Amino acid sequence: MYERIKEHLLQELRSIEESGLFKKENLITSPQDAEIILSGGQKVLNFCANNYLGLSSHPALIDAAHQALDKYGYGMSSVRFICGTTNLHKELEEQIAGFFGTGDTILYAACFDANGGLFEPLFGEEDAIISDSLNHASIIDGVRLCKAHRYRYANTDMSDLESKLAEAQNQRFRIIVTDGVFSMDGNVAPVDRICDLAKKYDALVMVDESHSAGVVGRTGHGVSELFNIRGQIDIITGTLGKAFGGAIGGFTTGRKEIIEMLRQRSRPYLFSNSLPPMVVAAGIRIFEMMNETSELQEKLHKNTEYFKKQILAAGFDIKHTESAIVAIMMYDAKRSQDFAEKLLEKGIYVKGFYYPVVPKGEARIRVQLSAAHTKTHLNQALQAFIEVGKELQAI
Ligand SMILES: *Cc1c(COP(=O)(O)O)cnc(C)c1O
Repeated sequence: MYERIKEHLLQELRSIEESGLFKKENLITSPQDAEIILSGGQKVLNFCANNYLGLSSHPALIDAAHQALDKYGYGMSSVRFICGTTNLHKELEEQIAGFFGTGDTILYAACFDANGGLFEPLFGEEDAIISDSLNHASIIDGVRLCKAHRYRYANTDMSDLESKLAEAQNQRFRIIVTDGVFSMDGNVAPVDRICDLAKKYDALVMVDESHSAGVVGRTGHGVSELFNIRGQIDIITGTLGKAFGGAIGGFTTGRKEIIEMLRQRSRPYLFSNSLPPMVVAAGIRIFEMMNETSELQEKLHKNTEYFKKQILAAGFDIKHTESAIVAIMMYDAKRSQDFAEKLLEKGIYVKGFYYPVVPKGEARIRVQLSAAHTKTHLNQALQAFIEVGKELQAI
């Protein structure tokens, strides 16, 4: 039986390889940080992690995780509602709600699950989900699992959103769904205007803050801080896998009754294991740190501003960004790959993206800044960009 599908799979894999879309994985042999070591022993500067606040290997989190490991053991061996809830889980949920100014929080194994389990318990055939065209794959999958009528508006296009809202007026409930920061450009969704339209057309608002929480806003409280609309977003989803420590874990935080319903009906919550206590304890430590100081955010913002300014001064084009993502335009797909390869030879680890991940003719190198980068790291990267840019005639 296997022979037939094996032949088919080999053929598909070959065609992925031939189209240049085969994803290879670089092996890292050190902790995740600004400087990492690859399997060949090469030490490189990492500019493609979601380690925005530099917390992936932070001693305070390692210590919190160690202590919880000793006190609470390794795993929970249960879903939350049977015997998988510790006092730590409740504490982290309360802290996340405090951070975002929401009513309550529910934890998931990942934000992929938070989004996957969000829509089906809340919306049915008589409702409408109005989703940004560039929303994350997990939102798209979550929406697919639900019977609500689907509308899609062009990325951050408020007049398109308005026309979709008008079309959806006959539905019972409406919800506008958007990423906070779009990961390929680094642009922020205009959530203030989305909230205005939501009021005008009687809709709820959901924002996925995976790339924006911890990053956007003066003290990193996300889009609601940036737009001064704290308390207005009905549902926020997010991850502990990016700015907030980078281990694993996701959450939905928002209106109290919505979270209560998710605890009753959300399938990835009901039918999947509870987060390990060490991850939860480190999560608690992170939000304590966020309350104590915003120095990591300040460092990140400074680094991002400096890098952006210097890369523009060097003559590169970048996409409009308000986050810690800087998309440096190469336009040509092959050039983006050659560029990334040459940067790696110079000790700078970045990724090049091209069609179909980004629109045709818009190939780019995506740089992600971190509070863990020093000025020396940034200057080394900039120097390498300039050298390779000249060599490949990109500037
Ligand atoms: C990374 C990301 C996710 C997935 O988060 P995980 O916790 O890694 O599953 C979901 N949504 C958006 C917008 C993301 O960027």
